[in-house]
Amino acid sequence: MFNSSVNQWSRLALAALLCGASGLQMALAGVTESYENRHDPGPPRNLAPPGAKSRLVMLGTGHPLPNPHRFGPGTAVVVNGQSYLFDAGEGVWRGLAKAATFHGGVIAQAFQVDNLTRLFITHMHPDHTIGIPALILQPWYLNRANPMDIYGPPGITRRVDAILEAWRDTIELDLAKDPTTPPHGWKARGHDFAIDSSGVVYQDQNVKVEAFQHKHWELPYNYAYRVTTPDRVLVIGGDGSGDDRLIAAAQGADVFVAEVCSEADLGNAPWGGKTVEEKGQLIWQYHIKPRELARIATAARVKMLVLYHVQNYSDPYDPEAVLKEVREYYDGPVVQARDGDLF
Ligand SMILES: [Zn+2]
Ligand SMILES: [Zn+2]
Repeated sequence: MFNSSVNQWSRLALAALLCGASGLQMALAGVTESYENRHDPGPPRNLAPPGAKSRLVMLGTGHPLPNPHRFGPGTAVVVNGQSYLFDAGEGVWRGLAKAATFHGGVIAQAFQVDNLTRLFITHMHPDHTIGIPALILQPWYLNRANPMDIYGPPGITRRVDAILEAWRDTIELDLAKDPTTPPHGWKARGHDFAIDSSGVVYQDQNVKVEAFQHKHWELPYNYAYRVTTPDRVLVIGGDGSGDDRLIAAAQGADVFVAEVCSEADLGNAPWGGKTVEEKGQLIWQYHIKPRELARIATAARVKMLVLYHVQNYSDPYDPEAVLKEVREYYDGPVVQARDGDLF
């Protein structure tokens, strides 16, 4: 997320209102209106290589600010009709429907509710976890029979248990009063793991999932997930500053999904301080510069770099401003993702 301080957001919005700040600052600090929100990036695309048996699906490519065209961060890896979900941003349930509706076939099959039982969380920030209740409870209403397994940093089990407790009254009422309610589909089990460098955290016949720790603000754990399938290596980064540990995570990947934040237009960021220097001091502890991401992707020799969770502060607004910044430093294949894209 941008910043753990809600108060700071409120102060910024209030300051913009009181001080008659520029239209851009107003727009970026507001909930319902921004230049970015007026830009429709277009329909999902199928950018997977022909014949690929494993695909990566973008369920949400946005960031904490609400955007009518981008759900919160989330991806899925689909292998042999089974889905493995990575992060659950706001709107993830609708993001699944968007991709399934657009692509149909194997993707729609993999997103049937009985295949939505494995979720991996990169880090505990709300923009990556606020969709967890939707993935636990909404599929149950569509008759999911099996519990979910949710994997992530220390604290994930506590959070999953707290979600179930928060909805306990309605769960118990449905179980007691509706005989058609599946008895186990509402359940969820958390699996905490503390990985200090890297390690395998999950394996089955379709995937090996390794977690790589890398820096994001003061979070004790923030993982990139390297997913090795029978035919491809698909890597989903956590949020994070430029950290060389990402090079090992992404080494030789067919697809490397990463967040990125504008450096050229950082002065327009609606958070992080008043001056560019102040903003840089804070924001580069949270997020990665285009030049740093380019260096990491180049060193890792990734085959396709996919940008999401893009913080674009250009004024006037250029939807490709951050993509262009990355391309200044990177000459490999790079795409700015849309919700529903397949890679
Ligand atoms: Zn985030
Ligand atoms: Zn974050």
